[in-house]
Amino acid sequence: MSQTIQAVRGMNDILPDEAEAWEQFEELIRDWLSAYGYRPIRMPIVEPTPLFKRAIGEVTDIVEKEMYSFEDALNGELLTLRPEGTASCVRAAIQHKMLFAGPQRLYYHGPMYRHERPQKGRYRQFHQVGVEALGFEGPDVDAEHILMCARLWDDLGLEDISLELNSLGSSEERARHREALIAYLERHQEALDEDGRRRLYTNPLRILDTKNPALQALVEAAPRLVDYLGEDSLRHFEGVQVVLKDAGIPFRINPRLVRGLDYYNRTVFEWVTTRLGAQGTICAGGRYDGLIEQLGGRPAPAAGFAMGVERILALWQESGGEPERVAPEVYVVHSGEAAGRLAFRAAEALRGHGFATVLHCGGGSFKSQMKKADASGAPFALVIGDDEAAAGEVTLKPMRGGEQRRVSLDELAPALAEQLFAVDGDDGGL
Ligand code: ATP
Ligand code: MG
Repeated sequence: MSQTIQAVRGMNDILPDEAEAWEQFEELIRDWLSAYGYRPIRMPIVEPTPLFKRAIGEVTDIVEKEMYSFEDALNGELLTLRPEGTASCVRAAIQHKMLFAGPQRLYYHGPMYRHERPQKGRYRQFHQVGVEALGFEGPDVDAEHILMCARLWDDLGLEDISLELNSLGSSEERARHREALIAYLERHQEALDEDGRRRLYTNPLRILDTKNPALQALVEAAPRLVDYLGEDSLRHFEGVQVVLKDAGIPFRINPRLVRGLDYYNRTVFEWVTTRLGAQGTICAGGRYDGLIEQLGGRPAPAAGFAMGVERILALWQESGGEPERVAPEVYVVHSGEAAGRLAFRAAEALRGHGFATVLHCGGGSFKSQMKKADASGAPFALVIGDDEAAAGEVTLKPMRGGEQRRVSLDELAPALAEQLFAVDGDDGGL
């Protein structure tokens, strides 16, 4: 036998039990986003490589070592599987002049690709729900984003999540802080690790975000960006905090929260949990006022965030969240040729009335078909044998006790609605 082919490492199949939970999550997400007036946008999964280099920054983990980039074999174009959605979303907004119509509240959902070491909560293909507010100056929209997240966590019943907040100020403020930071790190160069020395002049802010425990004391005592913020940035930051306090959302200001992408300024935030081990950040975002201009658009402020769907679903499960079991309402069993043809008509009639119906395929005895009906979780079986077929009728059989009823095809939908109502106490899906 030839060897079987496996999925690419770090890229997961999402099998039906799990995929049903994903779909329920996606439905909830859609309602949640429309409740805040956000509209969907769908961008390609492949983009020109320079888009990400320009948007995310050359000296970032993503661009330096995580991108799936390749040359189009047919025309030599340099392409990249998107590692995140903001750059694509902004590119699309510029390309289609969307901001000419005013500010835009947008969202997207889909797979992202990063060549990282696969582990729990960290994959090479993972999924994000991304939210972007283009053309909004804030701080109101920054606060809106955080409030939205809090509501979603609440809707999902997620537990043990906390909010970390910081301000990265303006680019001038960051430049002054950067000078001071470089001077400080130069004085302690011998204490830096290899990553730190490499980033000393290219991306010193990132050194503050190091996970190396040996550097913690050094980083702790480094010049703090918050001490370099000017009046406008401080007021903006304060404006975000006022709304959060009004809404009763607790947060911790973390002066070392810098984010791994270069485009952020002013407000940045992360939602973290202690329940998922090392991969505890479930959602992250902030303001990126310079990005639209940097990608060639007319200057406009913007802010957004993205959440990791795998991590959120893992936390949902951890917090006792149970996706509803998806089962048909009717399973149709039949035996004999005429019965088989009537079964098709009956099943289509039921679907026409909105009932989820599984038609048994592949033959077999009534007994074995009833076993399948039971396993399907359907509350009703529709039984069609020679008798029924001759009379043009069907037998509606409750699977969990109760009287079975023989009805004509015309009576079937109302009879089922009535019985489902008796079982569920609801409108039986009508
Ligand atoms: P991390 O510090 O965990 O690498 P990040 O800062 O690189 O995260 P972002 O680019 O801000 O992540 O992406 C937003 C969210 O997407 C993260 O908070 C996380 O929930 C999720 N995420 C990022 N990378 C991965 C991955 N490789 N696998 C699964 N989820 C991921
Ligand atoms: Mg990362």
